[in-house]
Amino acid sequence: MDNKPQNIEENLDPRDHRVLGRELDLFTFSDTVGKGLPLWTSRGATFRRELERFVVDTELSWGYQHVYTPDIAKIDLYKKSGHYPYYKDTMYAPIDVDGEEFMLRPMTCPHHFELYLSKPRSYRELPMRIAEMAKLYRYELSGVLSGLTRVRSFCLADAHIICADADQAHKEIASALDLIDYMAGVFGLKMGENYKYRLSLGDRENKEKYFDDPKAWEDSEEILRKVLKERNVEFVEAKDEAAFYGPKIDVQMTKMNGVEETAFTVQYDFVMPTRFDLKYIDSNGEEKRPLVVHRSSIGAIERIAAFLLEHTNGALPVWLSPVQVKVLPISEKVMEYAMEVTESLKKAGIRVELDTDAESLGKKIRNAEAMKIPYMLILGEKEAENKTVSLRARGQKDLGVMSTDEVLVKLNREIKEKIII
Ligand SMILES: [Zn+2]
Repeated sequence: MDNKPQNIEENLDPRDHRVLGRELDLFTFSDTVGKGLPLWTSRGATFRRELERFVVDTELSWGYQHVYTPDIAKIDLYKKSGHYPYYKDTMYAPIDVDGEEFMLRPMTCPHHFELYLSKPRSYRELPMRIAEMAKLYRYELSGVLSGLTRVRSFCLADAHIICADADQAHKEIASALDLIDYMAGVFGLKMGENYKYRLSLGDRENKEKYFDDPKAWEDSEEILRKVLKERNVEFVEAKDEAAFYGPKIDVQMTKMNGVEETAFTVQYDFVMPTRFDLKYIDSNGEEKRPLVVHRSSIGAIERIAAFLLEHTNGALPVWLSPVQVKVLPISEKVMEYAMEVTESLKKAGIRVELDTDAESLGKKIRNAEAMKIPYMLILGEKEAENKTVSLRARGQKDLGVMSTDEVLVKLNREIKEKIII
């Protein structure tokens, strides 16, 4: 746990995401808005939006349905789910609305269950994978708030998979781990190196913290253990780290400062289906109780953004970079051509900026490098005359002279294939 208050930034590692966030102009905080409530700048929002699009598009193609549910709900909903009072200490005080108590939501599950309950369900609809980029609110002590990794408001790539039976749940858990591995792979993160699995178990003795049903705990812990064994991966088991409604597989990542954090989770739930009286009609026309798998594909957007910034030292791949190309005219004489090139890239959907400062080329390059912009187009009189550009990659790499169209082909390929440069 990072105990440094976020306003003290002296002695921070230059690779710390709080330093990178400020230097690359991605996010900020305001004491007037409140501690632990990040404000994303336009650049930061672009990075975040690309992450969110990637999550939603990938999940849709993996058979998830994406929904929207409100950030606030009646306290009765959390009493029904049992999150209240279990999670009372991490929830904010109720808000009085016309004499009724409402809570800012600390989790999405009960909202998705109510959506499931909106009509009768058939076995044909299962497994039903209900996903949402969900804004959540949790109380954290001000001393533990830290940049984007510990915040009081965050957006979780959340989903609840309603499964017909344990067999289906088993398959869905394995598939959720496949999805996590796939997404982590796109970010260049390797299993065993950048993240590892932890099987988080309950504690039969602690009947206050965990739902009291020893048999259900044994069975579900065994299912999760089996899923992990089938993957032939190393994993650790941790007692007393489960959710109150069931065991989970945590994907643990280690931050720059050496602190291990739970980034994503896949949880088995044998409690909520009964609490919410979830049902479906099986192939014989009989009413059955489904099982629920809670899972997150990339965890909280804030946390994965922080992790990726530190992992890449701010040098994000082209598809995630707030500005993908910087156009650097050598002199005022080629400004018109520089504007023309900038415009054509913008029209082609590239995030491009034109450097109009009256600085030397060396200074312009240093500025673009400092902002970790992946590509620079250097334009002199020769380029203007031949309608070409001189392409330079981040990190002092001169890639030669080419046409704007050739640059576009290269960029589009790197963006589409999410290439790590
Ligand atoms: Zn959930």
